[in-house]
Amino acid sequence: MYYADLSPYAYCDGGEEFTDLTDGMRFVSFQPVYERFNIGWLEAGHTWTSSQAPRGFARRLLAVLDAQLVNATLGLHECDLCPTPIPDSHPWYVARPGNLRASAGTSEIRVPGSLGTVFAAPSLIGHYVVDHSYLPPQPFIDAVLAFNPYGAWKARFPGIRFPWIPDNAVLRHVDDE
Ligand SMILES: [Zn+2]
Repeated sequence: MYYADLSPYAYCDGGEEFTDLTDGMRFVSFQPVYERFNIGWLEAGHTWTSSQAPRGFARRLLAVLDAQLVNATLGLHECDLCPTPIPDSHPWYVARPGNLRASAGTSEIRVPGSLGTVFAAPSLIGHYVVDHSYLPPQPFIDAVLAFNPYGAWKARFPGIRFPWIPDNAVLRHVDDE
């Protein structure tokens, strides 16, 4: 599915469900108290910028992808920029030969932007950057380079290293499903 970079996020138009894989805190849900802006929702047939990303950007982006799963249950996104579709027999979570990242994803990430805003990207963004040389807008690059998902932020919700979790966030028990 396609959304223009920096357009207002509307894909999952309810609350956020946040999992922090760095310490295993899962399924914390809340109504966002920040504005969300789309980044990296690419699709064939829509133009996007292809260029060399700044040094260190891809590595930091992949670190964020390893740390967060946001709204992870909404379904599978497949890359349709790859020249051939993934065969049905190929496990979606295994990178196809020649590609560095899995070319399908099921979740999103959040990167803090300017105060009160976050960037909302599909987990496929790692594949787009690494394998398709997608160059996101500069504000997102700056935000990723400034965001350390493993430490420097004081979490408001215990166990989630994301700075803008509101006080009324609740932990959803998996049994509730
Ligand atoms: Zn691809």
